[in-house]
Amino acid sequence: MPNSYDVVIVGAGTGGYVAAIRCAQLGKKVAVVEKQKALGGTCLIWGCIPTKALLEHAHALKVISAAKEWGVTLPDARPAIDMNQVQSRKDRIVTGLTKGVEFLFKKNKIDWIKGTARLAGKGKVEIVEGDTQTLEARDIIIATGSTARSVPGIEIDHTRIITSDEAIALKDVPRTLVIMGSGAVGVEFASIYRRFGSDVTIIELLPRLVPVEDEAVSAELEKSFKKQGIKSLTGTKVTKAVASANGVDIEAQTADGKTQKLASDILLVATGRGPVTTGLGAEDAGITMERGYIKVDEMYRTSVPNISAIGDVITLGTGMHPQLAHVSSAEGIAVAERIAGEQVRPINYDHVPSCTYCDPEIGSVGLTEAEARQRGYEVRVGSFPFGVLGRAKMAGEGEGFVKIVADKKYDEILGVHMIGPRSTELVAEAVLALRLECTVEELIKTIHAHPTFSEAVGEAAHATHGAAIHL
Ligand SMILES: Cc1cc2nc3c(=O)[nH]c(=O)nc-3n(C[C@H](O)[C@H](O)[C@H](O)COP(=O)(O)OP(=O)(O)OC[C@H]3O[C@@H](n4cnc5c(N)ncnc54)[C@H](O)[C@@H]3O)c2cc1C
Repeated sequence: MPNSYDVVIVGAGTGGYVAAIRCAQLGKKVAVVEKQKALGGTCLIWGCIPTKALLEHAHALKVISAAKEWGVTLPDARPAIDMNQVQSRKDRIVTGLTKGVEFLFKKNKIDWIKGTARLAGKGKVEIVEGDTQTLEARDIIIATGSTARSVPGIEIDHTRIITSDEAIALKDVPRTLVIMGSGAVGVEFASIYRRFGSDVTIIELLPRLVPVEDEAVSAELEKSFKKQGIKSLTGTKVTKAVASANGVDIEAQTADGKTQKLASDILLVATGRGPVTTGLGAEDAGITMERGYIKVDEMYRTSVPNISAIGDVITLGTGMHPQLAHVSSAEGIAVAERIAGEQVRPINYDHVPSCTYCDPEIGSVGLTEAEARQRGYEVRVGSFPFGVLGRAKMAGEGEGFVKIVADKKYDEILGVHMIGPRSTELVAEAVLALRLECTVEELIKTIHAHPTFSEAVGEAAHATHGAAIHL
């Protein structure tokens, strides 16, 4: 196999594999080094795909559990989940998609070098484990991603105190599940296992669930979780967790300093993810790091010429860089086009959609009301509840709302935040609206089909001008 390439990419996650395909489309000779047994990285193997597959099972159980309401007659037994079937269906989906990436590599003549890579001097990548060899490259792209991390004092034993890597593969539904952290990962697993039958408690250090979302969305989710029997302990810090053969003893401190003790079959630590750079030799290669992340500029150049980095492993040095599959892919395309000499514009991170697939779903893009005010805008907001819509009544899914945050002076839409049915799909319209610097008036004049959930977006625009039709 030839070992000289235009571009060598380390990591075949949604950042690396998409960058590879785009490089190949633009005529580059490309190799990707991946140490896992399959292509696709965290998203396909451990993250987006397995979790959403489990959520679809949870949704199916929800619908079937309401069979009577739908006029569907079931045998006497109460519907229950069969974890063997759940896991094997999920695994089939994951395998199908990872094989799909293999097919795309072949189609685009991309070499998959199986092994662990290390930077080995100017234009060189050494494979230190697996298919050992040294590759030469004009350009190197680091896309080594992230891994689950704990917080000091909480030791993950992967059996009783687990991360999302284990939570996607549980063979039995835990009787009790405590989840530490209420970001996307935490609340998605809360929805999955509550629906499967677990007694679920979420412990969140900050004062509200999904703290990066608009405050109104957090409040709506907490209300819905309460209705579903998911307990939320916000403003609460897990101070101790001791695993034994039978479960986990947990101590937490509430905002007012009180200690609360909980016992659980499983503690899921969902407190965020850290960069993967161990053994990569990034610092030895002279790459500037920041808090363990690879520091890049807005075109994903590291401090070393011809070495770029994308995805979960990077920081742009300007606050939080979103660790999302579609962000890593967009960065992969941008870096490939820049390497191929195309004109590329920096990504506007205010226009990145954020989707959380809990029940009810959350979709958002742009500034929250608080962020817009912080940035000095004179803000105008409007919201519209899904429950009023005919379509929502038919589907029996009336929770939540669409909220628009706009600039009063120019009427520009600054952010759209939705929680409720199909929000992870409906947000696409809002993303385009922000991208095209749409005004609220333009969204009002955009005709939304009837009867659809998307009418809530149009009505929220009307509400922002104080004139919702159906309220
Ligand atoms: C439970 C969970 C659910 C998620 N759900 C969503 C979601 O619904 N939507 C969404 O947008 N995002 C989601 N994410 C986040 C998403 O998975 C990540 O943002 C995305 O995978 C990042 O892509 P990446 O290419 O930067 O890194 P990764 O996907 O982590 O890929 C990095 C790859 O590099 C390989 N690698 C690392 N070091 C080396 C080395 N030295 N040599 C060779 N190979 C190496 C790794 O094996 C890995 O395959 C979720 C994450 C988790 C954990």
